[in-house]
Amino acid sequence: MSTYPIRQFGDPVLRQRAAEVESVDGPLVRLVEDMIETMYDAPGVGLAAPQVGVERRLFVYDIGDGAGAKAIVNPVITESRGEWEFEEGCLSVPGLHWTIVRPKEIHLTGYDLDGNEVSIEADEYEARVLEHELDHLDGILLLERLDKDTRKQAMRTLRARSFAGAQPAHPDGPAL
Ligand code: ZN
Repeated sequence: MSTYPIRQFGDPVLRQRAAEVESVDGPLVRLVEDMIETMYDAPGVGLAAPQVGVERRLFVYDIGDGAGAKAIVNPVITESRGEWEFEEGCLSVPGLHWTIVRPKEIHLTGYDLDGNEVSIEADEYEARVLEHELDHLDGILLLERLDKDTRKQAMRTLRARSFAGAQPAHPDGPAL
């Protein structure tokens, strides 16, 4: 197994809608293994394929509940309910985190690596991780979930950082 470099804010691959996975084959399984290693190495609790430069609808996550890392292929959120505020970071926008409101509960369907359909009822933290990773597959970064003023401030911070060429530290909060 090996790790990938994680694509950073400004990389166009992060703004593309990823294509459906058509079949789970050996190379895809190896990609998932390497994505899991990359996620743990970062460290993060979720990682979507576009974050390692692969434009396919697939992500991995481990919310630390003892269930280990899971991979979801072609995920779809079929229902969402309520609102929940949570401080959220992103491995592709390291060192920064914001309080973001998203749906509190979701129903997500997709496939596992054996081709079996999965159906997940998730709330709060788990829902947040799944929502964040699914956004990556649609080319949406957490910056787009900020209110207008907070987003402007965030963009100023990111621009200042890119001019300075600074290497940001890891965020304190969970990074996805
Ligand atoms: Zn992210």
